[in-house]
Amino acid sequence: MSFLELLLMALIFVLVVMIALVFYVYRGFTPQGRLIIRHGPRDSKKVSLTFDDGPDPLYTPRILDILKASGVKASFFLVAANVKKYPHLALRIAQEGHDLGNHSYNHSNLLVTRNATLEKNLIKANKIIMQVTGLHPNFFRPPRGLYNQKMLEVASKLGMETVLWSLSSLDWRGLKPKKIVELIAKKIQGGDIILFHDSGNLFYQKKINHENTVEALPLVISELKKQGWEIVPLSELLGIESE
Ligand SMILES: [Zn+2]
Repeated sequence: MSFLELLLMALIFVLVVMIALVFYVYRGFTPQGRLIIRHGPRDSKKVSLTFDDGPDPLYTPRILDILKASGVKASFFLVAANVKKYPHLALRIAQEGHDLGNHSYNHSNLLVTRNATLEKNLIKANKIIMQVTGLHPNFFRPPRGLYNQKMLEVASKLGMETVLWSLSSLDWRGLKPKKIVELIAKKIQGGDIILFHDSGNLFYQKKINHENTVEALPLVISELKKQGWEIVPLSELLGIESE
């Protein structure tokens, strides 16, 4: 094999790996482990809305307003660095009765982090969330849904269930509000955990616009209610007592 052929094969390999990573990034990366939760009971009429990456001064208050107006309690997976920046928003989320989750300190890729650093990251995040809200997060969601067994063990040791999602709104892809509603209306099943984002520095620190999330949310809520689904926070969907 010539050097050029080798180089070409190496390039193709790298490309395939990159495409696979991008494709799987929002579906979770490793096979379903023993301790991971992706949805609640499938025979239930309950579903949950979850919001990742906040709090964010632009989107979180509007999302909270919509949830309050429709009497819906959701779950927020907080990035602790954002909690530190916007403590009043994290406090408002807690005071309005939504469930809190740890979404790491800084949304770094924990999959490539050393075990000790991983644990420190989650402890630091919990500490900040507790200082600001007075509540211990019951749930952990690894950034980008990338997890391994070690992460599940650390989260469990720190008193958190690791929760992914079963239905992504694809809001991070910039899907139009109407499309988000259509997608959810078509795919929703009992026990679904729906993924939204109320902030976004997801890819390469690029700020993502989440007007689509804010605009879609009231439509999603009324569509779900119309279909007869009860929208509950994760603690209720999964039967886990809040502290
Ligand atoms: Zn995230």
